[in-house]
Amino acid sequence: MTISELVRTETASPMTQPMTVSLGELHDQAGQVDDELLPCRANNPELWFAESPADVEAAKALCQDCPVRALCLDGALERREPWGVWGGQLFLQGVVIPRKRPRGRPRKNEVAA
Ligand code: SF4
Repeated sequence: MTISELVRTETASPMTQPMTVSLGELHDQAGQVDDELLPCRANNPELWFAESPADVEAAKALCQDCPVRALCLDGALERREPWGVWGGQLFLQGVVIPRKRPRGRPRKNEVAA
């Protein structure tokens, strides 16, 4: 059981309001885990706010093994994070988007390129 599963089962109840996760709570939970187990602390944190689509996908992949991933994702969804990779998902203007598009205009005809 990960820490985020533990927190969810302890706090979630059908009689309570939907769980809200503050950044402080996430930091508290993450503080109980060795930094080496938190990919965004063990690696260059700028990868989680990268411009390059390849770097963004790398950050999303690294998040998959994070012990607080579910808590991180819940909080980011609730806060409507404006930008960055949180909980293994890319956020842009408060919503999850499947992948980052490269800069520049798309080609008019991808097949002819
Ligand atoms: S899920 Fe990703 S962004 Fe969230 S704490 Fe873990 S490594 Fe960092």
